Amino acid sequence: MSQDFQTDSRQMLGRLRGVMAQDAAGQARLDQITHLIAEEMRIEVCSIYLFRDEDMLELCATEGLNPEAVHQTRMRLGEGLVGRVARTGQVINTDDAPNTPGFRFMPETGEEGYSSFMGVPIQRLGEKLGVLVVQSKDARSFSEEEVYAVEVVAMVLAEMTELGAFIGDGAAMKARHQHPVQFRGTTAQEGAARGHVWLHEPRVIVTNLIGEDPVRELERLNEAVDELRVGVDRMLTSARFGDKEQLEVLEAYRMFANSKGWMRRMEEDINRGLSAEAAVEKEQSTARARLGQVADAYLRDRLHDLDDLSNRMLRILTGQGTGTAAEMPSDPILIARNIGPAELLDYGRSLKGIVLEEGAVGSHATIVARALAIPLVIHAKNITTEAMNGDPILVDGDQGVAHLRPGETVIAAFRDKMAMQAKAQERYASIRDKPATTLCGRTLSLTMNAGLMADLPSLEGSGADGVGLFRTELQFLVRSKMPKRAELSELYSRVMDAAKGRDVVFRTLDIGSDKVLPYMKPTDEPNPAMGWRAIRVGLDKPGVMRMQLQALIRGAKGRPLSVMFPFVAQREEFNAGRAELNKALERERILGHPLPATMRLGAMLETPSLAYAADQFYRDVDFLSIGGNDLKQFFFAADRENERVRRRYDTLNISFLTFLQGIVERCMATDTPLSFCGEDAGRPVEAACLAAIGIRSLSMRPASIGPVKSILRRTDLDELRSVIDEAGRRGDQSVRPCVMDYLREKL
Ligand code: PEP
Ligand code: MG
Repeated sequence: MSQDFQTDSRQMLGRLRGVMAQDAAGQARLDQITHLIAEEMRIEVCSIYLFRDEDMLELCATEGLNPEAVHQTRMRLGEGLVGRVARTGQVINTDDAPNTPGFRFMPETGEEGYSSFMGVPIQRLGEKLGVLVVQSKDARSFSEEEVYAVEVVAMVLAEMTELGAFIGDGAAMKARHQHPVQFRGTTAQEGAARGHVWLHEPRVIVTNLIGEDPVRELERLNEAVDELRVGVDRMLTSARFGDKEQLEVLEAYRMFANSKGWMRRMEEDINRGLSAEAAVEKEQSTARARLGQVADAYLRDRLHDLDDLSNRMLRILTGQGTGTAAEMPSDPILIARNIGPAELLDYGRSLKGIVLEEGAVGSHATIVARALAIPLVIHAKNITTEAMNGDPILVDGDQGVAHLRPGETVIAAFRDKMAMQAKAQERYASIRDKPATTLCGRTLSLTMNAGLMADLPSLEGSGADGVGLFRTELQFLVRSKMPKRAELSELYSRVMDAAKGRDVVFRTLDIGSDKVLPYMKPTDEPNPAMGWRAIRVGLDKPGVMRMQLQALIRGAKGRPLSVMFPFVAQREEFNAGRAELNKALERERILGHPLPATMRLGAMLETPSLAYAADQFYRDVDFLSIGGNDLKQFFFAADRENERVRRRYDTLNISFLTFLQGIVERCMATDTPLSFCGEDAGRPVEAACLAAIGIRSLSMRPASIGPVKSILRRTDLDELRSVIDEAGRRGDQSVRPCVMDYLREKL
């Protein structure tokens, strides 16, 4: 790069700053900018195209093209060379524009005389804002340095757009971050919430874009890198050994801080006239633009790491974003790219709703959000870029939609929806202390699923008869190291205290598959859901299982205790687990600790094999609980985590119901208590059908108890059973349509 050019590009940025400083209207600013770029670069044409809406670009200012075309010429994303630059986020630099694929002739602009074309995307943190174009008559390809200079200018334009520099007269631009935006994502926890945005990663606004003194800016960059290094080192010394998340941050830091390319590019940007923070953000924007294009998981993780590090650097450089809980709105809706379970627990019940850009239906954070009953929408693309702290937002967890800065009509519709839900809640509250007795006189036991101490208050509020499934792995998942036996027994004891004598069924550790402990060596399995998980891990590495069984016995402090093993696939596994329990009981007896008054040991039926186990297995267990989530995925061979297939097969499919009916009959024949604790137990229509085929105990999320009890109390199970049987005889694939017809008529 020639020294001359560096000076030029600095000069150009210096003049841009001058434009920024003037108190001019938006359009006047845009006009001045195209003029000064053309002049500085000694070229005939410079134009700025900005997005009018999501996929329509508009010529907003030009030097050299027909001024009449301004605000008239429009093109769709992907259309023409400009549209292609916007769509791909990549520069087009050609000396023969008319013969470049995608070229579209626009007579109104009078551009036919220009042979050379360079289009550079104007983008900020993954958000497409427009395209900056320079053109010249002579057929020449712009030099690498010229491209670079225009990219730097485009970055400054992006920032200026963000800061609202081009708003003013209607012809320029709409104010950003002020209009309503709807985000369509995926439901991870139902429920509706209304509140104000709280960004998990505070957004840094860079106002100081252009550096006056490159030497000083380079110093600032190096100081920030040093501070980052000290911060990471401090984290490392305070990190408990093996804390995966912190080690990963350190690794990422090492990778990038030592990456000469990263530092060099930022130094070059500073030499060209950017401030240190603008240089960091330019790198961050490039990384985000690449994120939209790479599919490789490893590469995506690294780009995310770079994004996190850039955020840290920006906070150091600008001193912004040290948001404290004190500034949080009273009705916070958390917005984040992603969040870990421990961080989510720190926020706790103070959150009204959560919207994530990434996330997964079965992730740990989702499990925690469910435990806390906070509406959660995941896969809301780009929401962290669009949302500003304090923006009003509505979260519709049922539809998987978030309405940012909603208009009056949406607010009114949402208010109606929430009012209807509140009415329903009142109805459920009125039957809270009544039994789940059907019209035909059968009484079901409705219990709740739990996994955290935070769940237990719901026991009173929901009217649950007890805890039918306590997922003990959550305590393991939200920590950064293996909990100690004493901690666990204390916790189990508090859970039983909170249950006030109602039964709590503790499920032993169900790890593996999607539940990977941060402090356990991950095993690389081709198919983890069918791999080394749950009781298989417990029996192969019995240390943890023994510790947990002891903690459970001690936590019971002489009270009745119910325990079940997850993912049992054959009789032998259950018996081996029981042998461990017996040993633990014996050890406790020898140590003089009180033994549980009664001890019930059950198995979860989550693999089809158990439905066909020998009668003796049914007699061995004290009870069985159908884990419908897993059982269904293996029955239909449809991954419960895979969005493409997880909703493909209906629980009310006649084959699945027939299969479940077989299990009910075997339990009746062997006098084995049976319950169902998958998600379907909490869906009213499914719950009614499960009851109709003879299941008398259902365990579900606390919020589902009211709706399920309400439908059961209005249903005659014998009639519903006939509807199901009739559908089977007719050969229906799913009983849902006729069950829905029946219920609609009856309820
Ligand atoms: C199930 O599989 O239905 C179940 C209750 O267990 P989990 O969802 O924790 O795998
Ligand atoms: Mg399961």
